[in-house]
Amino acid sequence: MANILFDALFRPHLGSDRVFLDIPGATAITYGAFLEEAARIANVIAAEGLEPGDRLAVQIPKSATALAVYAACVQTGVIFLPLNTAYTPDEIAYFVGDATPKILLCDPAAQPSLKPIADKFGATLLTLDAAGMGTLTDRADTQPSTFAPRDRAADDLAAFLYTSGTTGRSKGAMLTQDNLLSNAQSLVEAWRFTGDDVLLHALPIFHTHGLFVATNIILLAGGSMIFLPGFNTDAVIAALPKATSMMGVPTFYTRLLDDPRLNRDLVSHMRLFVSGSAPLLAETHTQFEERTGHRILERYGMTETNMNVSNPYDGLRKPGTVGFPLPKVDLRIVNPETGETLAQGEIGEIEVRGPNVFKGYWQMPEKTAEEFRPDGFFRTGDLGLIDGDGYVQIVGRGKDLIISGGYNIYPKEIELLLDEQDGVSESAVIGVPHPDFGEGVVGVLVPQGGAALDTDAIAAAIAPKIARFKQPKAFFVVDELPRNTMGKVQKNILRDRYGDTFK
Ligand code: ATP
Ligand code: MG
Repeated sequence: MANILFDALFRPHLGSDRVFLDIPGATAITYGAFLEEAARIANVIAAEGLEPGDRLAVQIPKSATALAVYAACVQTGVIFLPLNTAYTPDEIAYFVGDATPKILLCDPAAQPSLKPIADKFGATLLTLDAAGMGTLTDRADTQPSTFAPRDRAADDLAAFLYTSGTTGRSKGAMLTQDNLLSNAQSLVEAWRFTGDDVLLHALPIFHTHGLFVATNIILLAGGSMIFLPGFNTDAVIAALPKATSMMGVPTFYTRLLDDPRLNRDLVSHMRLFVSGSAPLLAETHTQFEERTGHRILERYGMTETNMNVSNPYDGLRKPGTVGFPLPKVDLRIVNPETGETLAQGEIGEIEVRGPNVFKGYWQMPEKTAEEFRPDGFFRTGDLGLIDGDGYVQIVGRGKDLIISGGYNIYPKEIELLLDEQDGVSESAVIGVPHPDFGEGVVGVLVPQGGAALDTDAIAAAIAPKIARFKQPKAFFVVDELPRNTMGKVQKNILRDRYGDTFK
C-alpha cells in the first residue's frame, strides 16, 4: 500500500531547497522546511493517539503552519476538517458535535470559548496563531522532523469540508484521497501549471478554492505561492508583478478594477487569472480584459466535487459561461423532477459524475441518497444549460428559482437586465411570498458610486424587454448586497429581509 496523496503532493519535495511559500515581510519557506514542520506536527498528532480515519478540526488563521497541519493530516491518515474563521463558538459546537474530532485546533484568542466545547465532545484543544505560535508548535518543536506516512487507499477519506451554508445548514462533504488528487491532476494539466509558477494566494484556506484548488495544484506542479493573509488591494497590487497566476473570487476582480493602479504593466508577468466560487459578471470579464489584456478564466465547482467545468486555457474564454466539463467529468442537464436529460440550450439541473465527486455527506445517509442518481450522477442543485458551442452556463441555484403564478422565473435573466440599467452597479432578484401568485418578484439594486436610482424609470425601461410576470413587483435600493467570505450573495438573507413585501 501507499498514500497516494502524500506520494503525489508532498513526497517529491522532501528535503527540497526550493521556495514553497513566499510570505511578504517574512523569510521565505522552502519545501524542505515546510515538510519538516509538517512531520513534527504529524508526530504530535500521532502522540495524541489519533489513528487513520480520526478527525482533526481546525479553526485557525491562515498561516504556513496551518497548511503544514493539512500536510500532517495527509501523512497520518487523519481526516482534515478546516472550519471558517468567521464561525462563532455556537457554530463550532455544531461542527465539533457532528464530526467528533479528536483534536480541535484553534486560535489562542478563542481558547476560553472553545475549551468547554472541546471538553464536552472529548476533543483535545490545541492552539495555533497567525504567526505559527501556540501549544501545537510548542509541542511540535521537540518532535522528530520525519514521519513515515501511514498507508491509505485511494478511496480512504482525506478531508471533511463543510459547504458554505449559502442555501441552508452546512453539510460535511467526505472527500477521498483520490477525489483530491484526480482533480488536482486534471487542473494542473488544464491550466498548464508548472514548477515555474508563482501563484498569488489571497484566498482563505478553509474553503475548497484556496485549500484544494490553489494549494494542491501548486504542490503537484512544484511551484510556489505568494501567501497573503487575505485580500488587501495594496498587498495584492504589490505582489502582482512577481506572480504568474492568481485565483480569486469575483470580488477580487471588481476590487482590483476599482483601483487605478491596475494596468497592463502591473500584470505583465502574469499568465493566468482564474475566477470561481460565485458568478463573474460578463461586464467584469470585459472590463478586466480592457484594462489588462487578460481574459479571466472562469470555472465552476463546489465543495462536494472540487472542480467540474472550466473555460479553456487555449481557445475562447467566454464571458458569462464556465466553459466545458473537465476531462474526467461527465456532465448532464436534467429535468430535476423526472431526471430526464434535456436538449442543448434547455435549462435544467446540472448533474456531474467522476473521480472528483465526493463519497457523501457525513452522517446524512438520507440526504446523500437524495442527491445521487442510481447511475452515480450527483445533483449539484445548480441550474444551467449547455449553449450552442458546448459551453456550460450557470443560471442560478435551484433554491433561488422563483415560481410566480405557476411560471418558473430564473433570477439571473432579470439581474442581467437590471445590471445594464443606468446607474445600477449590481442587483439581486428574489422571490418572496405573495398572496395571489405564490411568490412575487423583488429586485434589490445597488447604485453605482452614490448614484440616485429612479426605480420607476428602471421598471419602465425593462418592461418592453421581459414578460410581465418576470418584472419585479417591488424594488429596494441598498448600499451593498449581503455576501459571505467567498463573495457569494446570500439570497436567504434578502428573502428574510423583504419577506413581508406583499403581505
Ligand atoms: P451550501 O451548499 O451549504 O448552500 P454553497 O453551495 O455556496 O453552500 P460551496 O460548495 O462553497 O457552498 O459553493 C458551491 C456553489 O458555488 C456552487 O454550487 C455554485 O452555486 C456556486 N459557484 C461556484 N462557482 C461558480 C461560478 N463560476 N459561477 C456561478 N456559481 C458558482
Ligand atoms: Mg452547495
